[in-house]
Amino acid sequence: MADKSRSVTKRKERKEKESAEVVKEVRNEGDKDGGEVSSEAATSNGENGELQVEPMELPPFEIIAGDRIDPFVFKFQFKNVEYSSGRNKTFLCYLVDRGDMADGLLRGYLEDEHTGPHVEEAFFTQCIPHYDPALKYTVTWYVSSSPCSACAAKIAEVLKVRKNIKLSVFAARLFEWEESEIQDGLKMLHAAGCKLRVMKPLDFSYTWETFVENEEQPLNLWEDCKDNYEFYQEKLADILQ
Ligand SMILES: [Zn+2]
Repeated sequence: MADKSRSVTKRKERKEKESAEVVKEVRNEGDKDGGEVSSEAATSNGENGELQVEPMELPPFEIIAGDRIDPFVFKFQFKNVEYSSGRNKTFLCYLVDRGDMADGLLRGYLEDEHTGPHVEEAFFTQCIPHYDPALKYTVTWYVSSSPCSACAAKIAEVLKVRKNIKLSVFAARLFEWEESEIQDGLKMLHAAGCKLRVMKPLDFSYTWETFVENEEQPLNLWEDCKDNYEFYQEKLADILQ
C-alpha cells in the first residue's frame, strides 16, 4: 500500500510540473497584453549584461499579496476539479471586517507555493499584524484548496487564543481529503469554531466579482462545477460529522 501511494504521489508531482509550465505560458501571453515584465524574466536575461550564473537553489518563495487575481490564473487555480494536478500553490482571497466603521473592510488575496510558507499562516502575520483584542474580527476566506494539516493546527491555535476572530473558510477543493491527518486537521478547525464550507457555484461567481480582474465580464462556470461542488461537499460532511 505504501509503495503504491508513493508512486501515485510521484506521478502527481510530475503532472503538477507539466501543468505548471502550461500556466506559465498562459501567464506570459497575458503579460503581453498587460505590458508587465515579470521579475523572473528580468533576472534570467541579466539586464546589465553581466555573466549570469544559474543559481543552484531557488531563493525561498515569498508570499505574494495582491488586490485582484489575473482571470486566467483564477480560472485555473480555483477550478474545483477532483484531482488538482498543477495546482501546487494555494490562493487565499480574504475579507476582514474589524467592526470599526472608520477602517471599513480589508480585501485582497495571498498566493503561495507548497514549498514555502503557506498563505493561511501568512494571513495572520501579514493581514492582521496588529491584533486588537478590543475589536471583533469577522474574517472570510475563499481558498483554492482547504488547509494542510500543519496549517489547520496553526489556525485552530490562533482561533483558540484570539477569541475575537470569527473565521469562515470557503474552499474550492479539499486538499488530500483521503489522508487521515488532513481529516483530523479539518475536524480540529471545526472544533475551534471555524466555519468550513465548500465553494458553491454562486461562491465562485462572487469570488470572481470581488477578487479578480474581471473587466466586468461575468464568470462562465465550467460544466461540472456543481457536480464537483456536490462531490466535495459530501466528503466534507462525512469528515465533519
Ligand atoms: Zn498549509
